[in-house]
Amino acid sequence: MTRRKLVAGNWKMHGVSADLTEVTSIALAAETADADVALCLPATLIERAVRAAPGFAIGGQDVHQNEKGAHTGCISAAMLLDAGARLTIVGHSERREAQGESDADVKAKAEAALAAGLSVILCVGESDAIREAGKAVETVAAQLDASLPGSVAEASRFSVAYEPIWAIGTGKVPSTADIDEMHTALRARLVAAFGDAGSEVRILYGGSVKASNAVEIFAVPDVDGALVGGASLKATDFLPIVEAAS
Ligand code: PGA
Repeated sequence: MTRRKLVAGNWKMHGVSADLTEVTSIALAAETADADVALCLPATLIERAVRAAPGFAIGGQDVHQNEKGAHTGCISAAMLLDAGARLTIVGHSERREAQGESDADVKAKAEAALAAGLSVILCVGESDAIREAGKAVETVAAQLDASLPGSVAEASRFSVAYEPIWAIGTGKVPSTADIDEMHTALRARLVAAFGDAGSEVRILYGGSVKASNAVEIFAVPDVDGALVGGASLKATDFLPIVEAAS
């Protein structure tokens, strides 16, 4: 099973109009990359980014599970699609922690986004306390089981991102042996849940991915790409990571 790598940037709460030049530079390079490339932008930039870089995969960073309604500040899958987005992140640890999103919420969001036609990157990952207690694999596997959508009709539209919380934005990265152990466990869970389609789902690694560690991380067998935060904001930082995946 060869899975084409996916390198997705997560701009979080960064980016205004002046930063669209970074999007267009990344989009141009993505045309010839031997990997799928996407940028998940703040909602305010999605439509302009799609106009500035037609053909390039722009995504959101979260989606509401309902189609519409009294949900101040939230965005539906139909709204993301209407703005030209093709994908969305769900279940990022910053939302699980700060917005109190449960596994059930994340599952509902993933199901709503997939049903609407978006691609989904579903995030899971452990805290440093869980890692130090030696419970990382069992905890993250259980989190994945409880967050997974009921089915994935098109495995190419669904990815999982393993993001240890202690590695996000800290410059700390697990050993390749630890990444390998986790991704192997998550692959087994995906195959148990989805059968053959589970071996087609991409499992990304996220947390302090940079040009200097990307080659080593991408060489781990079940690492099918990366979800990149800080190093996705500038084309000069992000494109070497895309290159490492190609
Ligand atoms: P980071 O963030 O690359 O800045 O560590 C990754 C993420 O949170 O998706």
